Amino acid sequence: GRRPRLSLDAYEQGVRAADRTVLAQAITLVESRNESDGALAQALLTRLLPSTGGARRVGVTGVPGVGKSTFVDALGMRLLAGGHRVAVLAIDPSSTVSGGSILGDKTRMARLSLEPSAFIRPSPSGLSPGGIARRTRETMLLCEAAGFDVVIVETVGVGQGETAVADMVDFFLVLALPGAGDELQGIKKGVLELADLIAVNKADGDGELRARTALGDLRAALRYLPRKRPSWEPRTLATSGQTGAGLDDLWRIVEEHHGALHASGELTALRSEQQRSWMWSLISERLEQAFRNHPGVAAQLPRIEADVLAGRTTPTTAADDLLATFGVVRARD
Ligand code: GDP
Repeated sequence: GRRPRLSLDAYEQGVRAADRTVLAQAITLVESRNESDGALAQALLTRLLPSTGGARRVGVTGVPGVGKSTFVDALGMRLLAGGHRVAVLAIDPSSTVSGGSILGDKTRMARLSLEPSAFIRPSPSGLSPGGIARRTRETMLLCEAAGFDVVIVETVGVGQGETAVADMVDFFLVLALPGAGDELQGIKKGVLELADLIAVNKADGDGELRARTALGDLRAALRYLPRKRPSWEPRTLATSGQTGAGLDDLWRIVEEHHGALHASGELTALRSEQQRSWMWSLISERLEQAFRNHPGVAAQLPRIEADVLAGRTTPTTAADDLLATFGVVRARD
């Protein structure tokens, strides 16, 4: 059945008071695809917006098995010990493809999940990757309004997850593994460019020496990449979620990065730009939805798509015809 809904005031007060039950309900509201839930969620976010933006927004990515859960669990516990309040949000594009979830299926972050000052929220299921990304952004705002001063957004290194996460955080961390030789494993092409810090993880026991060798190669490779931000040069570090090695240094780097971007004005600019591109991605998403749902378009789409596939019509003619049906006049450029 339908879960009971609170009043707007009750949601607002509950979130501000960091009432975990209300926070969880507010997130469910944000994740809902029901239209009146959506309206209430936006009203709530509008009220809370002035109280958002205060967290260190950190994205973490890496292929399955790189040690993300262990790492976030260990880092989170350290941050709690330092007096922080930590929210961990997951973006898991695999949950939309397979119906199953790489991030959600096992017991993850065993220690952190028991802590009252931590809040862990898995990916909403049954949504498109774009849909998941929108909900995660809004969930991040709810967590900030609830006073979490660290929000870690975690994603599996598959699909488009990394870009979506890099677009909603201030600091993007890529976890990698030293390979059998001294090469790095688990870094996809294009992901290196998104990184503010690359941590060679599992630098413990036998892995320690290999991690140090891999770091050297990594630093050499980074020299050829264009800088992501004027005031920040990407860093590298050896870490171990298991022993905790490198985790304190890692957090010092996050703070240093925050200081540098704050001082240069880039943090404000970055966040405004993220807001704008978020708006545009919503517009694209909704327009495409409206287009596909348009009765005339829906009726013609299978035939026209088949014509394009078979080479009987050009993609441009097909797009023009469908857009004309939708009511978009032909652009001249
Ligand atoms: P995830 O899939 O990226 O979330 O990775 P997990 O945290 O679930 O770890 C995958 C496997 O690697 C598990 O068997 C862990 O015990 C192991 N592991 C995780 N972190 C470390 C680490 O820092 N050092 C070592 N040696 N093993 C680790």
